[in-house]
Amino acid sequence: MDIINPATGVVFSTIKSDTKQTLNSKLENLRKGQKSWKKVTINNRLNCIKKFGKLIQENKFVLAQILTSETGKPLQQSLNEILGAQNRIDHLSQYAEKWLEPEVLVDEGATLEHIKYEPLGVIANISAWNFPYNVGYNVFLYALVAGNSVLYKPSEFATLTGKQFETYLHLAGIPEDVFQCVIGDGSLGQHILEAEVDGYFFTGSHKTGSHIYQTVAPKMVPVQLELGGKDPLYVTEDVVDVKQAAINAAEGAFYNNGQSCCAIERIYIAERIYDEFVEAFTEEVKSYKIGDPNDLSTFIGSLTRAQQLGVLKDQVEDAVVKGATLLTGGSTIDGEGYYFEPTVLANCNHDMKVMIDESFGPIIGLQKVSSDEEATTLMLDTEYGLTSAVFSNNEERAIRILDNMNSGTVYWNCCDRVSPKVPWSGRKNSGLGSTLSSQGIRAFVQPKAYHLRMLS
Ligand code: NAD
Repeated sequence: MDIINPATGVVFSTIKSDTKQTLNSKLENLRKGQKSWKKVTINNRLNCIKKFGKLIQENKFVLAQILTSETGKPLQQSLNEILGAQNRIDHLSQYAEKWLEPEVLVDEGATLEHIKYEPLGVIANISAWNFPYNVGYNVFLYALVAGNSVLYKPSEFATLTGKQFETYLHLAGIPEDVFQCVIGDGSLGQHILEAEVDGYFFTGSHKTGSHIYQTVAPKMVPVQLELGGKDPLYVTEDVVDVKQAAINAAEGAFYNNGQSCCAIERIYIAERIYDEFVEAFTEEVKSYKIGDPNDLSTFIGSLTRAQQLGVLKDQVEDAVVKGATLLTGGSTIDGEGYYFEPTVLANCNHDMKVMIDESFGPIIGLQKVSSDEEATTLMLDTEYGLTSAVFSNNEERAIRILDNMNSGTVYWNCCDRVSPKVPWSGRKNSGLGSTLSSQGIRAFVQPKAYHLRMLS
């Protein structure tokens, strides 16, 4: 498989793909390995994970360069991701034992009722490229700590990073037959769906997620899907500092070139502050440094996938034809690599694709609203349900709106953030199940109820 640097469009490495045969032989080993791994104490499993985290941090500059070279993510953001993902390990280290220990619910007289949490077995983690550390850690670290063995398929756009996970997990003491990486694109993913696996944990698009869900349904094994979003932000007229709100909103929309599942993808602005907000927002976006992702001061690198350039161009054309005002950007950038100008479209409405379809790139639609009710209706007008945000100076007002949102996460005066302490989950086309928090580790175990009676 060719590995392309999206900032240049040049193939800089090749790697051997797995086949159906090598996949099945890895799965066979993982099945054997899991039998021993589940007997290892949680503490010892955690020690391996902690060592893995330490090795990753010690090698973060090299790893960040690898991530940047295959995704076009600006180097500073690659470093941020690697540093930030460590919080999963810290949180697991603190709580995993508590979350996995057996629970005694009844201990009265001769009757005992217990729950034990048993690992699922061999799980498959089919992953995405946009935040491979964050979304990978959310799954494979939690699965390993819970006593499962893991078949990890990185995205074909983050393959080298996936191989590094394998190298460092093995160096940290995770046995080779407990974590295995397989290399390939969707056709290898398809073989995984046909293989014998005890659970599917997927991060990626709604299209692929829905296909996976339907394909593996007859197996009756757990399936968890972390999918896309079309996340709204509503800025009320009472924000204290309109300019600061615009700067924060722009970062939430354009960080990682807008290629975040929880990126702000559409913004509704109260009419009283609309002009001021739009001006400040556009000024901020125009100030972003675009260019070589290896330069630590670059904020906008190249897109990861060439095909997305066409999607973005189409969304801009569609919006402009339907009456949107293009305030900045709107085109691909001539020269090497897959670059698209950071794009701001004002006067948008829900007839436009940019307000309905996931953009997953550096483009945003802005729409004026005249009331909280109108904003709420528009925010809810989506097939997705990942996150929703309100910027307002009034907590009660913001929470009232957020309580009505049908999304797994809601934000007040913040956006585009994930914490290991609370669950990460999508509703509707944004997915199924939760990662992170106690719920995220319980996803990798199955409860067994013990009814015990002492006979006198
Ligand atoms: P994708 O669906 O194209 O690919 C994801 C993975 O699925 C890749 O590893 C790919 O090789 C594999 N795949 C493709 N076809 C397959 C098949 N037929 N069978 C099995 N596997 C197959 O998604 P992507 O472009 O890698 O990721 C971007 C999407 O992921 C966006 O929609 C984004 O919002 C979403 N995402 C969601 C979260 C979240 O936590 N909710 C996090 C990150 C990304």
